[in-house]
Amino acid sequence: MDRSFLALFSWVRRAYSQISVQKESFAMRVCVLGAGIVGLASAYALDRAGHEVMVIDKATAGSGASGGNGCQLSYSYVQPLADPAIWRQLPKLLLSPTSPLKLRPQLDPHQWLWALRFMAACNAGTSRRTTVQLLALAGESQHAFDEMMLREKLDCDFSATGKLVLYPDKKNFANARRQMLLQRAMGSIQEAVDADRCVELEPALASQYGQIAGAIYSPGECAADGQKACNALVELLRNRGVKFLFNTAVKNLSVQQGVVSAANTDQGDVEADQFVMAMGAESTGISRRVGVDLPIYPLRGYSITLNVADTSALAPIVSVTDSARKVVFARIGSRLRVAGMVELAGYSTAIAQAQINSLSASTKALFPGCGDFSQLNAWAGLRPATPSALPLIGLHTKGPKNLIFNVGHGALGFTLAFGSAGRVTALLALH
Ligand SMILES: Cc1cc2nc3c(=O)[nH]c(=O)nc-3n(C[C@H](O)[C@H](O)[C@H](O)COP(=O)(O)OP(=O)(O)OC[C@H]3O[C@@H](n4cnc5c(N)ncnc54)[C@H](O)[C@@H]3O)c2cc1C
Repeated sequence: MDRSFLALFSWVRRAYSQISVQKESFAMRVCVLGAGIVGLASAYALDRAGHEVMVIDKATAGSGASGGNGCQLSYSYVQPLADPAIWRQLPKLLLSPTSPLKLRPQLDPHQWLWALRFMAACNAGTSRRTTVQLLALAGESQHAFDEMMLREKLDCDFSATGKLVLYPDKKNFANARRQMLLQRAMGSIQEAVDADRCVELEPALASQYGQIAGAIYSPGECAADGQKACNALVELLRNRGVKFLFNTAVKNLSVQQGVVSAANTDQGDVEADQFVMAMGAESTGISRRVGVDLPIYPLRGYSITLNVADTSALAPIVSVTDSARKVVFARIGSRLRVAGMVELAGYSTAIAQAQINSLSASTKALFPGCGDFSQLNAWAGLRPATPSALPLIGLHTKGPKNLIFNVGHGALGFTLAFGSAGRVTALLALH
């Protein structure tokens, strides 16, 4: 974990709980770089705090990882990828042709450095500390997201149907129970359930009855369509006067005396008092140019979306994670989103047909006959991952004084976006 952020992280949290945001009194021009869910949630919170906000994106809203992700708002199930069990599983994960984890070595020292830092984070102490911090941020996020939904009623196929994480063998289920007890001690509402209860909670799992050793059930988990949430936020914010510069790529930042004066884009310079870096996995290049080496590497993942008949009892309503296949399932309206795979393979988002076939096969295995596989929508995206899984929120000691980072949300960016946005806004209130 980058200590330059760590100090600030807890400082912002303390300040956040003490601040009552005063509209107008400190209004600034804030430029958010990136219109993924993290940038848009930031823009929403900043606009509500009375700032004049503009958002720049090289494409359109949700065109990065936010548009096609797994759709799970996973507030209780935050276990980081960097887990001590990885050491035991590593040979199989790296060598098996059906492994959900793939390392494709690149001529990029950042890939190797990230992988080494990731392995160093795979220990019980780091995993526990990370879990504590992620749970705190997830709690803030759930609160902020629920309030936003009550106020704005975003059209994003939101549902609050809970989540089942399935374990096919007793050993991994026992490990999961240990993690559950740890999380329960920190306030998570979760229970360990047997196969009977699984099928009772989600009848679409009936065909799996004999394959389930147990599951962790988190009744408070939610789901929503990330792309629809991004689109709805843009519409809402536009109506409130937030400016969007789409199809506008940020190329560099002009820094004078330690302060960013403008974002240099391919459409010209954009000036502001404060800048928020929220360009997901692609935040690293420009950050490096202003002296900040972000410990972020893109972890490529894939998703498929298929239509399911509303009346079909064969498609799940409850969110499901298949821990063995490392695949997540979420119902979004009359569609089923299925996501998974972790590839350390550079910045390409080219779709590998073998991975799509694998996601389809997992779906057919778990939920036979659940939907129309002839018309599925295939997608690939990059999780902006830090080695420990903790996002980096705040100023950096080596960075410009008015560049706030809101990056590195890894596999939980949709879940954590609104809590992170609250922290960014709280930090600005201290200026
Ligand atoms: C397969 C998969 C499944 C996932 N499942 C879940 C899940 O179920 N739940 C969950 O909480 N999270 C999930 N995630 C993680 C989540 O999607 C990400 O953490 C989150 O979307 C990151 O949001 P972001 O806004 O930081 O980045 P992004 O969504 O990638 O947005 C970054 C934006 O910056 C823009 N940009 C980049 N470079 C520039 C530039 N130079 N100039 C201007 N704009 C630029 C991009 O166009 C993009 O719109 C999943 C991710 C993947 C890949």
